[in-house]
Amino acid sequence: MKSESAYPQLLRQTLDHALAYLEALPEAPVAATASLEELRARLGKPLPAGPVDPLAVVDRLVRDVAGGLTHSSGGRFFSWVIGGKLPASLAADWLTSTWDQNAGMFAVAPAAAVVEEVCGRWLLDLLHLPSSASFALVTGCQMAHVTCLAAARNAVLAAKGWDVEQRGLIGAPPIRVLSGDQRHGTIERAVRLLGLGRDCVIDIATDNNGQLRAGPLRAALASAPAAAHIVLLQAGDLNTGSFDPYDEIIPVAREFDAWVHVDGAFGLWAAASPEYRHFTKGVENADSWATDGHKWLNVPYDSGFAFVANRAAHYRSMAHHAAYLDHSAVARDQVDWNPEYSRRGRGFATYAAIASLGRQGIAQMVAECCQHAHALVTGAGKLPGVEVLHVPHINQGLLRFPDPSPGASEEDHDRRTEAVTARIVASGEAHFACTTWRGRRCMRVSVCSCATDAADIVRAIAAISNAL
Ligand SMILES: *Cc1c(COP(=O)(O)O)cnc(C)c1O
Repeated sequence: MKSESAYPQLLRQTLDHALAYLEALPEAPVAATASLEELRARLGKPLPAGPVDPLAVVDRLVRDVAGGLTHSSGGRFFSWVIGGKLPASLAADWLTSTWDQNAGMFAVAPAAAVVEEVCGRWLLDLLHLPSSASFALVTGCQMAHVTCLAAARNAVLAAKGWDVEQRGLIGAPPIRVLSGDQRHGTIERAVRLLGLGRDCVIDIATDNNGQLRAGPLRAALASAPAAAHIVLLQAGDLNTGSFDPYDEIIPVAREFDAWVHVDGAFGLWAAASPEYRHFTKGVENADSWATDGHKWLNVPYDSGFAFVANRAAHYRSMAHHAAYLDHSAVARDQVDWNPEYSRRGRGFATYAAIASLGRQGIAQMVAECCQHAHALVTGAGKLPGVEVLHVPHINQGLLRFPDPSPGASEEDHDRRTEAVTARIVASGEAHFACTTWRGRRCMRVSVCSCATDAADIVRAIAAISNAL
């Protein structure tokens, strides 16, 4: 089925659709407006019996998803940590699909392999991680955790004389995963996928700043000194953006030969800014780091990065060989470092993002998001009926809307916080989500889109004021 003749008209029409979306983005309601029933009715047609003109398919798709798209890559989306897209990375992402490379090996897709080699080098440099570390470009921080913790599992069991790649976990020495109690849920899933199971994760109480401290960590390690240990630290806690004190913690982990893994999904990017780098001091002494491209680097979905100081353990945990695969002796074959086999040429969009901003542009993007987050939270905090629970020191803050009725309980404050947040979202003017932090419901503020500017912050504060 040859279809090349369809391209010029189809892609021009698609470009028009894309430009229409991008032009409407700044003023479009941030939240999706179509209901589940509407979307199912529009999209859920019977399976077509035969071919349909591609142009008609794309036109219909655009029409049918209308109202069902969240305008999260605009400037007033502050829910979760999602981020937008840089122009160069969007354009490179389009070309990635056009080129349709299978970026598993150098022999199959040489340019894709070399682009990833360069991305790895650039990312380690930007994030001030050891230049000798190995890396993998994966789908997100979730798979970056899986990749890093697979290397960790290999290394801590090898140190006990156990080859986990050959023998698996049945009968293996036990692994204990020690983690602060504020960890992200993706850690637990990575542990489940790796066959370690939830029970191997041991919570260590964090202090009032959400940080893991040396004392409780040492006590936990010393309670089973013969076990194989992995210690999980954070660079950017999901609610407050707090960082663990690496210079205090990592030497303690070293005393017990523990592997130290860092969840830096967004917070690790503080290291790219001279102004905010001090928060990450000492993080480079860990063993592995997971972060995202699709959050703070503003690469389109999906894009995550895994880095491992112990290259040999990383390689042993992922390397794959088959008789019909043509491994390169000199280039980097992604299949040896990534959990996937066939895969998207994910490096192109990251390469374009970094190339378009450079070191200074990335530092500025990170610093501006932090400044906007601070302005949003402190500005909203001046409104009557707003309580500030956490002033951002990077890009994450927490607000609460107490119920003004006399004698209102904590539960009433929780309900009021949820109701005000829902009203803001329904207004379409800004988008926030609720979280539970230290037992209380609050509205989480996260700024990590390159599209957010000072005018968006003014509008977001006005939206909060109106909802109150
Ligand atoms: C978003 C996030 C993750 C998960 O990242 P994905 O890219 O969604 O897989 C993990 N940890 C933290 C702290 C996060 O913010």
